[in-house]
Order: sequence, then C-alpha cells, then structure tokens
Amino acid sequence: MLNQKTIKSSLCISGVGLHSGKKANIRICPAAPNSGIQFKRIDLSGNNIVIPNIFNVSSANLCTTILNDNGISVSTIEHLMAALFCLGIDNALIEIDNVEVPILDGSSKIFIEKILSTGIIETNIPIKVIFINKFIELKDGEKFISIEPSKTNLLIDFEIKYQNSLIGNQRNIIDVYNCDLSEIYNSRTFCLYEDVKKLQSLGFALGGSLDNAIVVKDNLVLNENGLRNEKEFVNHKILDCIGDIYLSGFKIIGKIICSQGGHKLTNDFLRKVFSDKENYSIQEIRGTTISKNIVNRVALKSIA
Ligand SMILES: [Zn+2]
Repeated sequence: MLNQKTIKSSLCISGVGLHSGKKANIRICPAAPNSGIQFKRIDLSGNNIVIPNIFNVSSANLCTTILNDNGISVSTIEHLMAALFCLGIDNALIEIDNVEVPILDGSSKIFIEKILSTGIIETNIPIKVIFINKFIELKDGEKFISIEPSKTNLLIDFEIKYQNSLIGNQRNIIDVYNCDLSEIYNSRTFCLYEDVKKLQSLGFALGGSLDNAIVVKDNLVLNENGLRNEKEFVNHKILDCIGDIYLSGFKIIGKIICSQGGHKLTNDFLRKVFSDKENYSIQEIRGTTISKNIVNRVALKSIA
C-alpha cells in the first residue's frame, strides 16, 4: 500500500479542452519510480517536458496552467492530477498533443475509470510524503486557506458561499485517504449562465457545454439530469483542491481548511508553504511505520 505506484500499461483518452475548445489526445504511460508525474507535449519537439510543480504554474485564474522554461504549457491539468493523486499514482508520463487536457465530463470520473480498468502496479520503492510542521494560512479578502499538522491523514474542510441561491453556501469535510471519494471524483465543474457569454467573449470556455459543466441559471440547473450529488458544487472545489495540491510533488499529511478558495488562492498558498523549509518535511514511508529519516536536500529540491 505504501510503495510507489504507476499504471500497468499505457492508456489513451481524447476530447476537447474546456477553455481552448481544441481537441487533444493524451496517453498516460507508466514511469519509473521517483520520476513523478510529467507532461510531454508530443506535438512539439525539444524541451517539451512540463513538470506539474507549484512553482511552474503560470496562470491559475480559471484553471491550472503549467509552463516550462521554453515557454511550453499545458493547461487544465487539475482533474487529471486529482485522479492520479486519489488513486495513489506516484509516477506517470502524460503525453499530450495540444495545449489543454480534455475536459471530458467536467469531473475526474473518466480518468479514474480508465486508469482502474487498465490497472495499477506497485513497485518495491517506498513512497515519500510531506508532513506539515506548523499552522500556515493565507487570506485574500473574505477568502482564506490554511494548513496545519495532522498524524496520518489529509483532511480537507472546504466551504463555498455564492449569492446564487441554488448554489448558496455548501461545506464538506473529506478525509482523503480514508473516505469513499466517488462523490468527489464524479463532481463536475460549474458556472453561472450569465457568466458563460462573458467568459467566451474573453476567449475562455470555448469548449464548454452542458456535457462538461453544470450551468446554473437562477434557481435552475440547466443540465437535463440535474446534479450528480447533493454537494456537487463544493465537492468539485475539493476535487480541484486535491489536483492542485498534487503539484507539491507528493502526498501531503495535514489538515486544510479553505473558504471560497480556488486555483489561484491554492497556488499562492502552496508557494508560501513551500518557500520556507521550516514549514514542512518530506519523509520516506517504509512499511506501515513512518521513517525518522527526513529526506535530504536533494529530495527537497524536487518540490521547491
Ligand atoms: Zn475543476
């Protein structure tokens, strides 16, 4: 359970990007222990590897975009990253032939199903995890996010507050390593009907449709079959949060509390957390016990 995992064999997924509207084909390939998650833009040659690292995030306004030193980017990586995190995939190479990961149904459901049907293999190399050493928080007006130490789990306590009465205030608390996460995986991205035209006039959501996003107009969900679960809105925000924290490179042990956050707040916060080595430690987990050996500076470099 606590050894590094990758997928059994390569799998392909195709679809349009939510914001670019461009079709992309991705191939998720097995990768060696300690190589982590990497994206490779196979439509371009040379310096086409893009690492999903918090310090490589170039934009986090509507989705999470990562950029390498050569100016090559991959966007909307968060739902795929969340699927990899939740399934415990430590190492994978994701080949992609365009700028944006397919949005599919707007959740992580299809990524999860495809990876599970392909299979996951475990190596004999122990995983590394990040322990949080102290309380750290970031506030931005009414929005805030904090993290504090916990023993063995990752708790996410998230709330949203919308003026729209259908979305309203929702809160959910998830124990990521122990809960049934299916309602988190399946929860779709959402937007207000009045924002759709605005976003599209700015060149975003060009691939958006009722097949890949919940659209709310006043008191109504415009999607034919309604919501997939009672807390789908906040559950999607938790899914985004899980995907974004995987850009720290490893699983995290800690308790996160977030109110009204999103990709940008999470990324600003993680930059703050990982800018100070006093805030965290990385440990190798052997068997079921936690090693006292704090991984050395070389390992720290891989996330900072
Ligand atoms: Zn999302």
